[in-house]
Amino acid sequence: MKIFTLMVLSVLSAFAFDVGNGKSLIIPLDSPQGVLQLPDQNITVLPHPIYPNEGFAIIPIDYHKQPQLINAQWLKENERRSVEINVINSLYPTEILSVDSSKVSPPPEALQRIAQEKAEAEEIYKHFTPERYWNKPFMRPIDSITTSQYGSARTYNGTLKSYHGGVDFRAKTPLPILASNDGVVVLVKERYYSGGTVIIDHGEGVYSCYFHLSEFNVKVGDPVIQGQEIGLSGATGRITGPHLHFGFMVQGTQTDPIEFMAQINTLFTQSAKIVQK
Ligand SMILES: [Zn+2]
Repeated sequence: MKIFTLMVLSVLSAFAFDVGNGKSLIIPLDSPQGVLQLPDQNITVLPHPIYPNEGFAIIPIDYHKQPQLINAQWLKENERRSVEINVINSLYPTEILSVDSSKVSPPPEALQRIAQEKAEAEEIYKHFTPERYWNKPFMRPIDSITTSQYGSARTYNGTLKSYHGGVDFRAKTPLPILASNDGVVVLVKERYYSGGTVIIDHGEGVYSCYFHLSEFNVKVGDPVIQGQEIGLSGATGRITGPHLHFGFMVQGTQTDPIEFMAQINTLFTQSAKIVQK
């Protein structure tokens, strides 16, 4: 007689979270183990920065994701828990901008450069560094007012081109730009659209991006600490005037940087244990 051993899956009550398109959901978990399984993505559960027996998962929701209910499963050892993610409409505004026409319809000779820069960035963002370089809350890279929020649908010279993938800070004169958190510099380059660009890898699929810089103080491979000056703001690339554009790529998805920092920084002010029995 054969004895069948069935893996016992304890299915606990579902937990539901609301999150807007373009935002990141951070779910605190009562264990640092396992994986959060979404229909199109598996997300590694990360150890909590303060409580080693707890964990969290970062779920970035793409800007173009329509409102929907996503059923996720947290799988760890022989246990399974349901997590419902309710994607809601973030209702972003529209912005109408005027820029140099060559930055809206690039000349043919620039197309190859633009394609190469895009491919290079995608290669960087899809890399998942298992190590975490930071152990404190993220900070803004500049002490200045916001002139454009993340997510605005953008019309350039009358043509809808894209949405705003980061947040803009006023910087009329060159100002020191500071690393948002500890990490390793993975790109320092003059690019067609983003001008003087620095990208910092913070580990675990989290990258911060600083655009339109006029000067660089770091080079690729440099470790940086939070608050370190990485360069000066400027007016390079596709711009309407001098400012700092600041963004985050999280597990390959461009996310609202201010919201992301607010979410992840709550890990330092409250214990996890939201999803539990
Ligand atoms: Zn911007």
